[in-house]
Amino acid sequence: MAKSAPHSDSELRKIPGVDTLLVLARDRGIFRHEVDAFRVYLVRRTLKKIRDLVLSGSSCPEEDKILSALSREIDSFNSSKMRPIINATGIVLHTNLGRAPLNEDVLEKTIELANGYANLEFNLNTGQRGKRGEWVTNALAILTGAEKALVVNNCAASVFHALTTFASGKEVIISRGELVQIGGGFRIPDILKASGAILHEVGTTNITTIADYSRAINKNTAVILKVHRSNFYLEGHTEEASLQDLRKLADLHEILLFFDLGSGDIVPRPLSLLPDEVKVQDGLIHGAHLVTTSCDKLLGGPQGGVTFGEKKYIDILANHPLYRVFRPGRLTLASLQEVIQRYLSGESKSLTSWAMLSLSPEEILARAEKFKERLKTSGIEATIEKGEGAVGGGTLPDDPIESWLIALKPQDAEVFLTKLRQNETPVIPRISKDRIFLDLRTVLSKDEDLLFSAVTTAFANSTA
Ligand SMILES: *Cc1c(COP(=O)(O)O)cnc(C)c1O
Repeated sequence: MAKSAPHSDSELRKIPGVDTLLVLARDRGIFRHEVDAFRVYLVRRTLKKIRDLVLSGSSCPEEDKILSALSREIDSFNSSKMRPIINATGIVLHTNLGRAPLNEDVLEKTIELANGYANLEFNLNTGQRGKRGEWVTNALAILTGAEKALVVNNCAASVFHALTTFASGKEVIISRGELVQIGGGFRIPDILKASGAILHEVGTTNITTIADYSRAINKNTAVILKVHRSNFYLEGHTEEASLQDLRKLADLHEILLFFDLGSGDIVPRPLSLLPDEVKVQDGLIHGAHLVTTSCDKLLGGPQGGVTFGEKKYIDILANHPLYRVFRPGRLTLASLQEVIQRYLSGESKSLTSWAMLSLSPEEILARAEKFKERLKTSGIEATIEKGEGAVGGGTLPDDPIESWLIALKPQDAEVFLTKLRQNETPVIPRISKDRIFLDLRTVLSKDEDLLFSAVTTAFANSTA
């Protein structure tokens, strides 16, 4: 420990003890009914900081300052608590901001199904134990033409579950062009290794031919894994083996073909705004034994993963102990059920994420102009500029969505950004150099007033 400054001993003695500060904080209403463990933790943290301050040569702060420090400590602790935020980035499936937003009535149904009890694993026809997620998986199978489907907690779990079940201790062939990292922490080689499968890389980053796969097959090969390059594109001189050719090869050697699709598209695009992506049904039609996908990407549901495929393989997965580890909870299944109901009813366009993706540039422009005029009445100058949003969530990386952005030029963009983040309903915009951009595509209409007050407050507090 550093030697204390000469006057620090007397100053150190002025720092209140834990009990004293606890009583003071209670008297001032800083604490109400919080449990002891919580109050003591925060008081100790505050006092430690004050001690460090005094040891570095400062004098002991006044009582009021100590109490403010405690309040700040509480705020700082609570800032990591999840709360609603306004996503003004224009990235619809923003992984850090929760991916697909869920519709209000989907959530109302979810509450109904979670409030009391539900037939989660209870068959109402027989009065016997039922299958978890039976309706959802049957509906998903009908929608995609799969024989059967199984829902787990996310797509990473779907992939891991399938690899562990069918390839543990055996080789999995994968193209070097598909040894990818998708988003935070999903690296195909790592998942493969953790599943106990042995990675057998073939080809090169840009070119992998069917002959490369063919040469790699040996007695210990169990699976060919094809991974959809969902978050980047390879351009130029590239070549990859088709699912059809891979299936022929797999059949010849009696091994399995898995297709990790990730993005989760299951119906034709409701609009022409985005190019068509590979769909689950394409993967199945073209020969994959199993196709894995996320529920909270293009599907527009809660976090989850679905494995689609032939009944005999899905049954093996469902009976593997890992399914017990990865099975989804009631909240997930309740909201997924309502999302899938929309697909069955031909109303998937009304899912919030799809409604956002379907907004035309003209609609965004009209909203942006209105917002700009409103800012003007508060003395804030903004300009409207052509720009781009994105689908996000590691989907369609090469296909930005045409949009119109509200551009702001505060005195200090960094300070302004911080103020927006510290707003009661935090706002996350985009920043480029010294300018801040708002894309209304991802701002729900009901949140526009909140956004307006956040921007005006941040402006007022960030101008000298
Ligand atoms: C996103 C993605 C995953 C991971 O999905 P999570 O649901 O986030 O676990 C896996 N594979 C591919 C191809 C993906 O795009």
